[in-house]
Amino acid sequence: MSARELETGSPDETEAVGEALGRAARGGELIGLVGELGAGKTSLVRGLARGLGIEPERVHSPSFTIVTDYSGGRLPLIHVDLYRLEAPLAEPAFLRDVLYGDGVAAVEWFDRLADSAADDVLVVTFAFTGDDGRRLCLEAHGPRHERLLARAGASRPTGHPR
Ligand code: ADP
Ligand code: MG
Repeated sequence: MSARELETGSPDETEAVGEALGRAARGGELIGLVGELGAGKTSLVRGLARGLGIEPERVHSPSFTIVTDYSGGRLPLIHVDLYRLEAPLAEPAFLRDVLYGDGVAAVEWFDRLADSAADDVLVVTFAFTGDDGRRLCLEAHGPRHERLLARAGASRPTGHPR
């Protein structure tokens, strides 16, 4: 496991973290996003889209859809939002299928997956440090996510590695 902690001072800075990850992605990555409403999870997914060559404006918080698939970029982006799940979910088959596809899967409220794929994922945990301040803790589990984190850090130094 490798980890990095950084602070952002605006939505744009959080988007830039996602963009660096999107540019560093090679396909097959799973990015789990953990944090309260308004923490910046969707902002990071917009950046991911940008980094993959997908219009970031297309990314939104859907009211009823749990899985949204964005094509047209360098790799497909699968955006999963588990906010509306009422109870922690044992990973259902349909999710397992989308989580490790050819593209990049980003899962908001990743902690609502009961037995979340904890050993093969990049988990980004958001904490509020002020009105516009957020502390992002990125924890890479498994070799492909450790490589992702290393490449993303090298391509754009967005914060202060621990
Ligand atoms: P979530 O998906 O976690 O509910 P969103 O990305 O949809 O969060 O919303 C984050 C909100 O917080 C937006 O209104 C954004 O403008 C605001 N915000 C303020 N500072 C930041 C920051 N540093 N990073 C991300 N969002 C921020
Ligand atoms: Mg959201």
